[in-house]
Amino acid sequence: MTAKIIDGKEIAVKVRQQWKERVDKLKESGILPGLAVIIVGDNPASRVYVRNKIKACHEVGMHSELHDLPEDISETMLLEAIERLNQDKTIHGILVQLPLPEHIDVNRVLETIAVEKDVDGFHLYNLGGLVAGNTVFPPCTPYGVQCLLEYCEISIEGENAVIVGRSNIVGKPMALMLLQKSATVTVCTSKTKDLKQFTSLADILVVATGKPNLITADMVKPGATVIDVGINRLDDGRLVGDVDFEGVKEVAGYITPVPGGVGPMTITMLVANTVIAAEQKLGAE
Ligand code: NDP
Repeated sequence: MTAKIIDGKEIAVKVRQQWKERVDKLKESGILPGLAVIIVGDNPASRVYVRNKIKACHEVGMHSELHDLPEDISETMLLEAIERLNQDKTIHGILVQLPLPEHIDVNRVLETIAVEKDVDGFHLYNLGGLVAGNTVFPPCTPYGVQCLLEYCEISIEGENAVIVGRSNIVGKPMALMLLQKSATVTVCTSKTKDLKQFTSLADILVVATGKPNLITADMVKPGATVIDVGINRLDDGRLVGDVDFEGVKEVAGYITPVPGGVGPMTITMLVANTVIAAEQKLGAE
């Protein structure tokens, strides 16, 4: 079997068009949705992500602004910058690009973002909503994965979903979202004994570890849907995921490539969450 490739880039273009229509409607009502992106320091990968996020906002006709802050900014000054954006009526979504320098308490930063502008979905309030099954802003990467599955009409209900990785931004929220959709969910970590025993049971396998080639063909159930969230830069400059794409595509039913799989959808869901934040603001006025 050769898997169908889930073309995240192409799907993102189509999904963004739907959100552009909602942006146009908001504009007709006198609201221009606005996203503020804060970047601290000079992490090259973060700079690429931020550039792509700003570009996506322009594509759908939204306002976006970049707040480029120095590596040695104090935590107090960063929190003050967020507070100003919390009060700014032209801004509906605030995103602080992670990781932050070590001298800054990331939790304090995330808790400072107003919940109604927390379009990355990392505030405890929104994470709590995820547990309760009614979050307003699902974290963008797992939300993008869910959107890809739905777009490709891949059944979730009653399926075995195995998630490899338990970070707060990908693995854990992904598990909650698939559980909410009535999958039977298993979460694996670096401490899991015999990873293959679990991955080979998966109808839907989501891998988010940052370990190239962690998942090989022998670990995948024939016909499974394999979603590779990982982004790893190899020494030779190539960008790869956590899955041995060439091997696994011969076994899986569906597979996402890296690049061009989950990444473009992550950015699309950021646009979606910002549009929703603006719509809620309009509804509240
Ligand atoms: P973290 O480093 O925060 O988490 C990695 C997780 O993988 C941890 O839970 C860790 O387990 C687990 N893990 C590591 N090694 C193994 C192993 N051998 N077997 C099983 N589990 C293992 O990473 P993130 O969640 O932030 O990101 C994961 C990957 O996804 C990265 O490559 C990142 O670049 C990419 N990413 C891609 C995005 C996109 O838009 N496509 C967005 C966000 C991230 P433990 O907890 O036990 O240490």
